[in-house]
Amino acid sequence: MSQAKTYRGSCFCGTVQIAVTGEPVAMGYCHCDSCRRWSAGPVNAFTLWNPDAVQVTQGADSIGTYNKTARSYRKWCKTCGGHLLTEHPTMGVTDVYAAVIPDFPYQAGVHVNYQETVLRMRDGLPKQKDVPTEMGGTGASVAE
Ligand SMILES: [Zn+2]
Ligand SMILES: [Zn+2]
Repeated sequence: MSQAKTYRGSCFCGTVQIAVTGEPVAMGYCHCDSCRRWSAGPVNAFTLWNPDAVQVTQGADSIGTYNKTARSYRKWCKTCGGHLLTEHPTMGVTDVYAAVIPDFPYQAGVHVNYQETVLRMRDGLPKQKDVPTEMGGTGASVAE
């Protein structure tokens, strides 16, 4: 663990500072309708971490949380509205949006919830209909 690298990030205004340490469990793009409507963007670039690897280093009291379902607790900065992360307690991971940790060497490995896409991305990466079986999905693939 002593060699684990730490990457720092923040919200849009800098009030909330976060850090992630080590390696994520998975990286990719989520095409689900919930990510789209909450983020107001067509696709969410995610990095999934063990919750212990994610630290709020400043501004924890400025974080707002909303959970429409028990699967996703979406968090943002109450000062600037900038998005930070989503906790997925039922899956045991925390999604730190790739855009929030710009120095982290993000490399997508998979597209998930591709059945809901509005922006097809023909990059040759696997396209999961929903999510992998180990995250409670069907694990089924769909065409690009
Ligand atoms: Zn902020
Ligand atoms: Zn999503």
